[in-house]
Amino acid sequence: MSQMDYNEIRNSQPGVVGQALQLAGRVFSPPEQLDCGEIGMVSGQAVIEAGRRYDELTGGNCHPQLAALVFDATGDFRALDFYFPIVNSLKADPAAREDFYNAVRYIAGHPGLDLRIYAENRQDVTAQTPPAVRHIVAGHLSEVFFYRRDIVERLLSQPRHFRIYTNREAFNQDGGLAGGDYNFGMEAIQLEMSRLFEGFSGKTPGVAPFLHELGHMLDHFEAGTGRMGQCEGVLPGMTGRDGPVFTPQARQYFIAGKQLEQQRYLAFQHGQARPNDPVPVGHPYVFQTDGEFIAGFLEMFFRNPNYFAAQNPQLYQAFAELLRQDPRRYWPEDFNLYITENRKAYLGGERPHPQNISIPRY
Ligand SMILES: [Zn+2]
Repeated sequence: MSQMDYNEIRNSQPGVVGQALQLAGRVFSPPEQLDCGEIGMVSGQAVIEAGRRYDELTGGNCHPQLAALVFDATGDFRALDFYFPIVNSLKADPAAREDFYNAVRYIAGHPGLDLRIYAENRQDVTAQTPPAVRHIVAGHLSEVFFYRRDIVERLLSQPRHFRIYTNREAFNQDGGLAGGDYNFGMEAIQLEMSRLFEGFSGKTPGVAPFLHELGHMLDHFEAGTGRMGQCEGVLPGMTGRDGPVFTPQARQYFIAGKQLEQQRYLAFQHGQARPNDPVPVGHPYVFQTDGEFIAGFLEMFFRNPNYFAAQNPQLYQAFAELLRQDPRRYWPEDFNLYITENRKAYLGGERPHPQNISIPRY
């Protein structure tokens, strides 16, 4: 029997030693039961088998956390809570929490969610893929749009393409770029499966490659026509052409907040910043293009909201108004890496590269 607190170990990545399950420094024999908190007891064997499916599918390239394996073994949506910090704010209200799971279930089953898993040589292995993969993708969409069902409904009104790859080779063979991308020609997010799980091995969620690429996809999405179009550096609902989902206040705040970021950046770029001047919230990386700017800030809104809001309240408010949520409620403490790394980029003494972002007109 386990004396471990499930919430303390659900982020760990189980391994297999001989016939036994190795988890957070302990070894479990297959018949042993793991106490998974409110989810109940799950056998070591069930966790081993769930993990084996990923090994076989990806050739050992993807090692999901215990939380995902418990979901695959039980189908219990509470197992996925760890992946979606929004659930922290819903736990006091069982109906709201259930509503979130229903949103995940709904999006996962939506015909507009065209999610395909590819192995090498573009072999489609979607049918063999464990359910956590689909539900984590659906969960991210549910989290971002939990309070804007109108936008996600519009997004899924036509098939949206998500291509997840079993390993690097499969990703490269299908034209994947860098660590993941939004492919303009395919109108698809391309990401290795292991990256869906990448930021989830700490006590709280960290780097979020899927959220970043989702930011790019949303930037290309035209809510007004329902089609995918050019990158404009805004999210659906931020332009007047977006029809009923247009949220004018979000646009106003976005323009003001982006302007402030740009001014701060220019001060560092030109070496005019004084010692105590505020640094931009975003890393120089996001000042390369309007597309990187919106993708990077979407990610930071869901990972370091406290710092983001304190440094640039108007830009934060743009996201809060648009998505009608305030992630500070789910994040008592930010994911710190995005703060320390970004600050270091400005305070290290080197001038950042010339910025290349533009400010939308009022
Ligand atoms: Zn990007």
